[in-house]
Amino acid sequence: MSWSRIAIACALVVPCAALSAQRPARPAATLLIQHVTLLDGNGGAPTANADVFVQDGRIAALAAPANTAAVTTIDGRSLFLLPGLIDAHVHLSGDPWDEAAATLKRVLQGGVTAVFDVAGDTRLTGDLARAQLSGEIASPTIYYSALFGGPAFMTDPRVAASSIGFRPGAAPWDQEIDANTDLVRAVAAAKGTGATAIKLYAALDAATVRRIGEEAKRQSIRLIAHATVFPAKPSDLIAANVKYLAHAAYLVWEGSPSSTDFTKRAHGDFAGVPADGPVMTRVLQSMKDHDVALNPTLWILAEGPAKDDPSGLRTAWMNLVTHRAQDLGVTIAAGVDSMTSRADALPMIHREMEMLVKGAGLTPMQAIVSATRGAAHAIGVDDARGTVAVGKVADLLIVDGDPSIDITNTRRIRYVIKDGRVVFTAAPEK
Ligand SMILES: [Zn+2]
Repeated sequence: MSWSRIAIACALVVPCAALSAQRPARPAATLLIQHVTLLDGNGGAPTANADVFVQDGRIAALAAPANTAAVTTIDGRSLFLLPGLIDAHVHLSGDPWDEAAATLKRVLQGGVTAVFDVAGDTRLTGDLARAQLSGEIASPTIYYSALFGGPAFMTDPRVAASSIGFRPGAAPWDQEIDANTDLVRAVAAAKGTGATAIKLYAALDAATVRRIGEEAKRQSIRLIAHATVFPAKPSDLIAANVKYLAHAAYLVWEGSPSSTDFTKRAHGDFAGVPADGPVMTRVLQSMKDHDVALNPTLWILAEGPAKDDPSGLRTAWMNLVTHRAQDLGVTIAAGVDSMTSRADALPMIHREMEMLVKGAGLTPMQAIVSATRGAAHAIGVDDARGTVAVGKVADLLIVDGDPSIDITNTRRIRYVIKDGRVVFTAAPEK
């Protein structure tokens, strides 16, 4: 049925219950959190005794309104309020729809209010994004990417799995790119999936990456990438206007001879290319100068499913390069690459922040910024999300205990607020 025929059917057939049931849940009109300690996501010292007034899903004021008679209030004394967490590196499309929706609900209740999917089947991801926007499922807001890779990557079984019904490389969200590709059409097709970014995965050379970068800029879609895409190196990606590099450990390839063997991506020369040497300093400084964010993914490579490291050097290397990136002013964007794990009841973004503190030596406040303002900036949504400020979307997390003193306090969740509505409440700790 066409959209206009739905409208006519709605006008003629009363009631139009099936359609009205999918309308967005209306945000609670007003909500006031009083006397709370505010960590606004910008990284400055917490503000004691703050008031946050929410109206129609947005932060309306950092003060109480004159008349609070009809306002729902939360007593924030002894509590700590921060922006809802953003996981800037997820993959939603491996599971069936119902399972993915159930996981997203759990992740929302665990304090994550936005996620950025960095490759998969956008038919499923896009439908989950629609279901979230329509109020059909309780979920973080979902942003997602389309993938570009070279011919050699198209035999990867994940490409076939995420593009069922298409020859691998021919789906608009999983495209094979070479020197002859019509990039005007390729980028337009990627945009047509609803993706807000194109991710460069593997098997692309510097010249091709540069051409993609020019066309993506012309069509105003964000470019993100693995930190090396073989043979293109980190510096080639930065030169091509990529705005987000994933996996800090892959930066090591800047210091090695060019290679097309992308299967070795997690196993670079960590002994021969020091994280604090001149090659890495040049790359990190260039990331800072060109506003390219680093998505370190420490947990998955140190403790998670990708922890295999024959060199025994990788964890210390990626921790140090992440620490240096932070020191040089590079935006750090927390993102896990595995939203949940059986090892943890809460979404893994909490563990990733802990690794940023305990492994990479960030301050707890820097780790909080990486999962709020930093992640929002890296995925291009910081005009609406990632900080607590007037006009921003009211996606908020309220916890017991100051996470700027002990990062594990982000786990002590009391309230999760999504689009101005309380979507999860936990009883006070005994
Ligand atoms: Zn990933």
